[in-house]
Amino acid sequence: MTDAPLNLFNSLTRQLEEFRPVHEGEARVYSCGPTVYNYPHIGNMRAYVFADVLGRTLSWKGYELTHIINITDVGHLTDDGDAGEDKMEKMAAAKAQSIWDIAKHYTEAYWADVKALNIREPAKWSVATDYIDEMIDFAKGIADRHCYELDTGLYFDVSTVADYGRLARAVTEEGEGRIDTVEGKRNAADFAIWRKTPAGETRQMEWDSPWGKGAPGWHLECSVMGEKLLGFPFDIHTGGIDHREIHHPNEIAQNQAFCGCGGLDVATHSGAKIWMHNNFLVERSGKMSKSSGEFLRLQLLIDKGYHPLAYRMMCLQAHYRSELEFSWAGLGAALTRLKRIVMAAEKLQDASARDASHPKFAALRDKFAAAMSDDLNTAVALVSLEEALAMKKVDASVKRAVIEEMDQVLGLGLFGLTRTDLRIRPSDARITEAEIEAELFRRKEARVAKDFAASDAIRESLADSGVEVMDGDPLGWEWKL
Ligand code: AMP
Ligand code: ZN
Repeated sequence: MTDAPLNLFNSLTRQLEEFRPVHEGEARVYSCGPTVYNYPHIGNMRAYVFADVLGRTLSWKGYELTHIINITDVGHLTDDGDAGEDKMEKMAAAKAQSIWDIAKHYTEAYWADVKALNIREPAKWSVATDYIDEMIDFAKGIADRHCYELDTGLYFDVSTVADYGRLARAVTEEGEGRIDTVEGKRNAADFAIWRKTPAGETRQMEWDSPWGKGAPGWHLECSVMGEKLLGFPFDIHTGGIDHREIHHPNEIAQNQAFCGCGGLDVATHSGAKIWMHNNFLVERSGKMSKSSGEFLRLQLLIDKGYHPLAYRMMCLQAHYRSELEFSWAGLGAALTRLKRIVMAAEKLQDASARDASHPKFAALRDKFAAAMSDDLNTAVALVSLEEALAMKKVDASVKRAVIEEMDQVLGLGLFGLTRTDLRIRPSDARITEAEIEAELFRRKEARVAKDFAASDAIRESLADSGVEVMDGDPLGWEWKL
């Protein structure tokens, strides 16, 4: 079932391309990781669910996967209005803590989300500040031919490489966007690859360099870690769609400079063969903004009683290149769908997996493979999984083998999950599960005795405690908080 060629959408060429590895039998993937100045919001986590599905698909296709995700703990600047401060420095100052403590805390919070969403660990989490020497060496290597120095730092001259901005499909006059307009820049789009610490200031994070004390520009880290850990060209570079506009075009320009290679009609001159971008998770009321008091992070979903894998399910239901609108109702529907799948899989809990290639499942497995091979169409693949679960008159061991195989790609972890795991107590619940069960037992007795007044009274008192009694729920959930 893994025979179909894997077609992936390359943002650089804006077309589907068959995956052909640079190194026989291998797949080398770099994903831009989080800036650990704050908790990730669930939109950020969509980027890693997508990268995880890509990695799982490559493994399932038989490639030996080397996946790198970086941790950005230096260099990523705030928006224009914030006068180009480093996000890490800013948060550390606001909290009166060291940057290292901030980075540790939010890296661990990110890892907790990664785990809760069944995102597989990459081969390496590469931390930007571990690569400062390499970044300085990289910059030294390209400085003469591609950079110029101003009082504020070392700048990359984008006119020195061919096809600058090809990935964004725009010749941007707005420039780097993340830093203040800088006096003396040769082109609006030129960007800092080293930012000098302003005279008279000290920063928590600064290093000596040929261009004075300072810190690397954000784009430099990904060029350097990609090259060091995967080698140019590697197979696939991923990130959110915002990176298609500034971060990745700048990374590509640096890579071209480093390789001394030509224009981007040859995709590998960019440093990678395929550039892939997930579209955004959007939320209309602004809760995704990290500056909103209670922003949408995974823990908020859990606190409200949604299992984190309901969010993974929500992501899988959409194509990664489509915008996905977040709503609580949508999340609830995803949870219900997951419950149904888990209930069906529970019936196979005691079966041992055997013979996935049984002819009974051949058509479904082909359908699943065709969907995943069509630019990771998880929405369609999920339907094949459900159809496989619903197959009648088939051997349980065979069915289990097929489901395990599909789940290995989708990553719901079905056989480690029970229906009760999916029932999460909201953090503001005023009643315990034991109390609910006891009340429901009393209600059952009242109904047996045909005392409907008593039964209704119990139902209402439960409702006052935030419990909805669900008689006849097809999923067999008798109540929900
Ligand atoms: P950051 O920590 O800001 O560097 O972002 C981490 C990742 O999340 C990057 O790949 C971004 O492109 C991606 N991202 C940011 N916002 C969203 C969103 N609303 N939906 C999906 N991906 C996002
Ligand atoms: Zn990056």
